[in-house]
Amino acid sequence: MTLPLPTTLDEARRRGWDQLDIILVSGDAYIDHPAFGVPLLARWLESHGFRVGIIAQPDWRSKEPFMVLGRPRLFFGVSAGAMDSMVAHYTPLKKLRHDDAYTPGNRHGARPNRACIIYTSRIKEAYKEVPVVLGGIEASLRRLAHYDFWEDKLRRSLLLDAKADLLIYGMGELTLLALAQRLRDGESITGIRDLRGSCYLSRQAPDAAVHLPSWDQLSTDKVAFAEAHRLLEHEQNPYCGRILAQRYGDRQLVCNPPALPLSAKELDAIYAVPFSREPHPCYREQIPAFEQIKRSITTHRGCFGGCSFCAITMHQGKFVQSRSLSSVQQEVGRLVEKGWFKGQISDVGGPTANMYGLSCHAADRGHGCRRPSCLYPAICQNLSCGDAQGAGLLRKVRSMAGVRQVAVSSGIRYDLLEHQPDYFRELVSHHVGGLLKVAPEHLVSAVTALMRKPDGAIFERFLARFRDESAKAGKRQGVVPYLMAGHPGCTIESMAELALALRRLRLTVEQVQEFTPTPGTAASCMYYTGIDPSSGKQVYVARSDRERRLQKALLLCHLPDERAQVRKALQGLGRVDLLRRLETLLAGAPLAVAGSSRTRPPATAKAPR
Ligand code: SF4
Repeated sequence: MTLPLPTTLDEARRRGWDQLDIILVSGDAYIDHPAFGVPLLARWLESHGFRVGIIAQPDWRSKEPFMVLGRPRLFFGVSAGAMDSMVAHYTPLKKLRHDDAYTPGNRHGARPNRACIIYTSRIKEAYKEVPVVLGGIEASLRRLAHYDFWEDKLRRSLLLDAKADLLIYGMGELTLLALAQRLRDGESITGIRDLRGSCYLSRQAPDAAVHLPSWDQLSTDKVAFAEAHRLLEHEQNPYCGRILAQRYGDRQLVCNPPALPLSAKELDAIYAVPFSREPHPCYREQIPAFEQIKRSITTHRGCFGGCSFCAITMHQGKFVQSRSLSSVQQEVGRLVEKGWFKGQISDVGGPTANMYGLSCHAADRGHGCRRPSCLYPAICQNLSCGDAQGAGLLRKVRSMAGVRQVAVSSGIRYDLLEHQPDYFRELVSHHVGGLLKVAPEHLVSAVTALMRKPDGAIFERFLARFRDESAKAGKRQGVVPYLMAGHPGCTIESMAELALALRRLRLTVEQVQEFTPTPGTAASCMYYTGIDPSSGKQVYVARSDRERRLQKALLLCHLPDERAQVRKALQGLGRVDLLRRLETLLAGAPLAVAGSSRTRPPATAKAPR
């Protein structure tokens, strides 16, 4: 049996450890499973001989909860958890959420707002001289000056605001391990300046650095902010990205190039590390995030898509890194041994399920590619999008002993599916389970272009083929489209057009995601500046709550309550023409899920990406 890592000094002593080397502090509960970043990093460091402890969801109102494991020999690592703490706490309309899926009992309030800043401050109160290293998605996406939606203003790099010693961005395994080894070998953290995937503060920027607009410029000039984002995206290719520097008064925030993508062998080594695959035994209540992932297998990381609203590319990187088939099979084997496993695997995928095994032919040739997306505006010819590995993986996993059913519930890129006939067939014939969730997000090309997503024509081709393949497989199954309201570029007219297109395609939705300008994305830059950073062109942005609500209501106008709101709002806007068109269509055929005899899809949880 694999014991969890220590969370108290007693647990550490039971392992014969009188002092820990590294303590990781997290805003999430401690679930000893590779799907969660802090436990994954902790186990990874442990497997390299470090004594690691975890302080999960400490009470941040005093320093004592940060001292339960004593003073670490090397450093504290701090993460807000699997989500940015502001995203975790507030809805897109800035209302306080009442739940938290990463906390036992789904309770809100187990972590503070701006967790990285608060945790670092308490640690520094307790152990002033111990280095603090920031990591996780909150640190990654806030590594440079960024727009903060909740304060509706720019904020400085998190490294300055938190007063930490180093910031690690991206997935971090290699960077964190190298840091731990060098500190163990006696180097000072102030001298470690060359780690890929890290940011530090300095009086001087390296000679080779690309200078982003300074904090003073950004504070007064939105065009400069859009330019800073463009430069950041241009330097995200780890094979050719350069060092970035951003001046804050007399200091420079230096951001080293991203860590190189992991090989399959390196990724396999990480997933070979033993985990108990359970929440820490101290918890008495269920943790929703664990219940959601405990029967799922992560097969790869990274996403070639580069959607402008998505944090994945800026955190995991655009190069997909896939585990080997045998590594995935070993994990399935461990899952099958669990007493609670009844043969159903809830997901086999990653950020985008059908990117398993995909690669860029030119990736390691130093070709200097600066495209933020490998799929938009068209699939790059250097991208190998064959489906042999993806389809083979699905076949192998579902044929394993103890496995009865395998679902694919990660997002699917349907533009890629046009090049993946075998995967498409496997998916439709064996892995949909009635309803396939796909995320076109929008179908109007002026909006999908800003999202860097495929347009409506590609979605319609996919839908036709999905129906066709389902019929061939003798399956009655449909598509649940995930859509977004309020994205930059999205107007009342484009939402009405989308509603009309959905009606024409006989698709209906029950939930619509409202765009949230999360830190560090291209879409957030558009929201703040009104400028598309890629083209420099002006972009329309719906800012008022009223318009954002109306955009959402337009997609839900088959529901009586929403329809009344839409009617009133469109009349108020003098858009009786749109109202008439919508009402004419709504008076037509009964609502149906495409390709299905069902009249409504079941309530859906959240967008797959
Ligand atoms: S060359 Fe093409 S596939 Fe490779 S990283 Fe650039 S856009 Fe992506």
